[in-house]
Amino acid sequence: PVEPRGPYRVLLLGASGVGKTAFAGIFAGAADSMDSDDSELCGDETREKMIEVDGEPASVTLLDTWDSETGVEWAQECYMPTGDAYLLLYSVTDRASFLRASELRITLRRLRPAQHTPIILVGNKCDLVRRREVSVSEGRTCAAVFDCKFIETSAAMQHNVWDAFHGIVRQLRLRRDSK
Ligand code: GDP
Repeated sequence: PVEPRGPYRVLLLGASGVGKTAFAGIFAGAADSMDSDDSELCGDETREKMIEVDGEPASVTLLDTWDSETGVEWAQECYMPTGDAYLLLYSVTDRASFLRASELRITLRRLRPAQHTPIILVGNKCDLVRRREVSVSEGRTCAAVFDCKFIETSAAMQHNVWDAFHGIVRQLRLRRDSK
């Protein structure tokens, strides 16, 4: 039998309104009711869950308490380094959120200078085709510059969201196995 690993702490980062709450809802299994307040049961919005990735169980704690608009500098400095891995979200319909993701990546690099910190740049809301402000190739290029993985998702359509969660677990395992 394979021992479960973790729990891995995965932090959702990104500007307000990009879909962090929606991601957390899908992770928690409340996808049908994105606006339900089931999450209140979890208090600090910390959710721990056992998920299976590539046939191996992994325990993941997803944290979405971050709000980069209201988060003051000291909170950022305290909170950001506590993750094992990061989903760095922006909305493809909001260029300012894309720039915010870049800033957050730079802050992360300063606070978590270790090589190979698992990070996925996530371009959410790809269902909103006509409101798109950030192209796929811009997202991909940005991820290459920042040395992280890239995925486009739609929390509304539940497209690629689990791929993002699974991808981050795979990266955590690669890092674990290379130690
Ligand atoms: P947060 O501030 O980052 O937690 O963002 P929320 O998860 O609260 O999402 C902000 C708004 O965008 C809400 O009205 C969501 O329903 C909506 N939203 C989130 N993800 C998507 C998506 O993939 N597509 C569309 N069309 N709307 C989304």
